[in-house]
Amino acid sequence: MKFDFSDYALGAGVATDLVNTSPSVRSAGEVLADPAALATFLAEHGLHPDALADGRGPTQGDLDQVRALRQEIRALLETPAEEDVVDAAAGLVARAGLGPSLFRDGEGRWQWCVAARPEASLADELAVLTGVGLLGALRTLSHGRFRHCAADGCQGMFVDTSKAGKRRYCMPEVCGNRRNVANHRARRSRNSPDTTRSVSS
Ligand SMILES: [Zn+2]
Repeated sequence: MKFDFSDYALGAGVATDLVNTSPSVRSAGEVLADPAALATFLAEHGLHPDALADGRGPTQGDLDQVRALRQEIRALLETPAEEDVVDAAAGLVARAGLGPSLFRDGEGRWQWCVAARPEASLADELAVLTGVGLLGALRTLSHGRFRHCAADGCQGMFVDTSKAGKRRYCMPEVCGNRRNVANHRARRSRNSPDTTRSVSS
């Protein structure tokens, strides 16, 4: 696969979603429970790694390596110093990255890209993808877009690549709803006139 520098949201999104498949984030347990679950994860993100180009599915070895990569990305997202984040993300790219070079996009314009070495493993291809995405997000947006989920008790993290930059949850459809329900209950239980005034003002 080759990865477009300008499409950093893809790699940053895969990094986010991969980190949040972990049993340390999901109360229901490991999302990547077996190689078939990894194949589903790749399909859901529209990824077609060269390592699986011959139609073979991910192996248990691929799964183990992707879980290890997940831990590395998690550590990267938690790293406080920007320089260290850049070093770690560049290390992911260097694992199997070639280039940079140029390729023509769908409209014939030249775009910067990094390709993965043809013999790269599935996990190394994903390392290049996420490394490019995280570097692009940091450069184009800021390190402040690498955040912890705001939902109480959620261990999730995410990279906010939205235009407004106001994302608060690792999985908005899950954690955002949980938060809304909690806030609603808190408002109902806090039924004093002072609270009512401050909320309505
Ligand atoms: Zn969350």
